[in-house]
Amino acid sequence: MLDLTNIREELRAHYDLSPSMELAEEMSDIHARMDRVMPMIDWAIHAPYVRAINQLKKQRNAVVLAHNYMTPQIYHGISDVVGDSLHLAIKATEVEADVIVQCGVHFMAETSKILNPAKTVLMPDMEAGCSLAESITADGIAEMRAMYPGAPVVSYVNTTAEVKAASDICCTSANAAQIVAAMEGDTVIMTPDKWLAQNVAKQVPQKRIVWWDGACIVHEQFTAQDLRDFRDWNPGLKIIAHPECPPDVVAEADYAGSTANIQDWVTREHPKQVMLVTECSMAANISDANPGVEFLGPCNMCPYMQKITLEKVLWSLHSMTGAVEVDPAVAERARLAVQRMIDLSRRLAA
Ligand code: SF4
Repeated sequence: MLDLTNIREELRAHYDLSPSMELAEEMSDIHARMDRVMPMIDWAIHAPYVRAINQLKKQRNAVVLAHNYMTPQIYHGISDVVGDSLHLAIKATEVEADVIVQCGVHFMAETSKILNPAKTVLMPDMEAGCSLAESITADGIAEMRAMYPGAPVVSYVNTTAEVKAASDICCTSANAAQIVAAMEGDTVIMTPDKWLAQNVAKQVPQKRIVWWDGACIVHEQFTAQDLRDFRDWNPGLKIIAHPECPPDVVAEADYAGSTANIQDWVTREHPKQVMLVTECSMAANISDANPGVEFLGPCNMCPYMQKITLEKVLWSLHSMTGAVEVDPAVAERARLAVQRMIDLSRRLAA
């Protein structure tokens, strides 16, 4: 566990991190990207960290990859690449920097390391896990293979390197249906997200899909009744759900898709009022780019994603600690599963 008291002392000895309205004004171009969701007084607290991190990134030849669920100060303030798991995985193969700072959860950093074994991949907090990734091990994959001999294993990218290495191919919520449809044979094993698997089963009825019993602790909190209540209270409300939600929740939505699909849908359709049935930071991050859209709904936050803070990012770049390592033999097999997904996604999109 990180010793935040010592970290704070050390950081304050090297950087001026005092809240500053003057600096906030100076950096108002960055604040303009999150103006709707962050008062200037809060920006005055974050701006010194953003300045220090952006300077350190140059010194270390580092890039920051940030998931759509990061807080606005990370997403808009320090990131070089933002996106969903698929986009970050692909971009991880293209970066030329020596250091990647992964602002997301641990399996994402492992994926970056798997795809970039020669680079240093820093994880600002090693305890930023994921309920899905923690729900299954390589033994679980072996169990499923024994139950369904010959069936290909499609594992969500929200898995550890060991689980990826034991799988035939990976998928993300953006490409899961296409990947499953492209598999040979009648039966496909999907791990570890039972809700994603059941949502894909509806889209790919020609396959018999069997699944592992994992779930995302954020998306499984939403209920179909919540969505009906919000619609009753706000006639005309559009509802967009992430496919990690249970199928009856997805069925109540006007549209379902990955975080990248959600972002595209909102930009394209420009609804007056929308409820994003996903992690709460997503709405905050796309709010300023969609000024005419009012975002409604409960704020379910991912406790793992929220572990990544500006302070921890600054510490990882300052101390160059938190490097993610993956056993080379495991990495090689995991890379095959991730690369097959990337290649197949590109072929299907062409
Ligand atoms: S939102 Fe769900 S799937 Fe994403 S990191 Fe958090 S627990 Fe895992």
